[in-house]
Amino acid sequence: MATAPSTIHVEILRQSTPDAAAVTERFAIPYRPNMNITSLLGEIALNPITADGAPTTPITYDSNCLEEICGSCAMLINGRARMACSTLVDTLIKEHPDKPISLAPLSKFPVVRDLAVDRAVLFQNLKVVKAWVPIDGTYDLGPGPRQFPQTQEARYPLSNCISCTICMEVCPQFSEDTNFVGAATIAQARLFNMDPAGSVLKEDRLRALAGEGGIQECGYAQNCVEACPKQLPLTEAISITGREVLLQQVKDLFTR
Ligand code: SF4
Repeated sequence: MATAPSTIHVEILRQSTPDAAAVTERFAIPYRPNMNITSLLGEIALNPITADGAPTTPITYDSNCLEEICGSCAMLINGRARMACSTLVDTLIKEHPDKPISLAPLSKFPVVRDLAVDRAVLFQNLKVVKAWVPIDGTYDLGPGPRQFPQTQEARYPLSNCISCTICMEVCPQFSEDTNFVGAATIAQARLFNMDPAGSVLKEDRLRALAGEGGIQECGYAQNCVEACPKQLPLTEAISITGREVLLQQVKDLFTR
């Protein structure tokens, strides 16, 4: 960066309870090189004083691993859904040198407090499509079925999902009106459908995705694949699963 600022200006949309009105608080944080948004929030927690000198409370947000693995620190940073841990302050200053950094909670999930939102809907959707490998009991089942290397290669990128819900936030179809399950759930259905042991539930998953809020709600805007921080091949997973859902519907028409 040519000239680093001495102060970082930050605007944060805050909400003390799920029903409270949202207010914007401004902060002025001394610049340090190589900060990410999580360390910026850490600076505020160490000294919770607004830019006007008023004492306030530390910002509430979810975070755990701090290395883009747990998926919990997704938020709107300068209006774009991204991870607080992997978004660097230097990059944001370079993009918009004259603007404060704005932080807000994801807009499509209920706010718990400040930047923390309730993303339970993703986990409910994963239950609907049975995104797991079924095992029976806790005893030793021996080695699992072997997988072709080609299957492993196709499955691996899908296994990188960190449940951050960014794909749902940016999807124009993900809303209470459609109840669309979202790209992450479809990708996980595909991941487990390709698993030799998980595929015993494949028909259940495809039928679930043919129901309300299922794959037919996808408008193929492709925002999900652009925004996914782990570069999952979401559009490919959606198109292949869409075809399989259709085939399952035809099969059920003649056999059920
Ligand atoms: Fe996040 Fe990508 Fe998983 Fe969606 S598919 S939850 S954007 S990691």
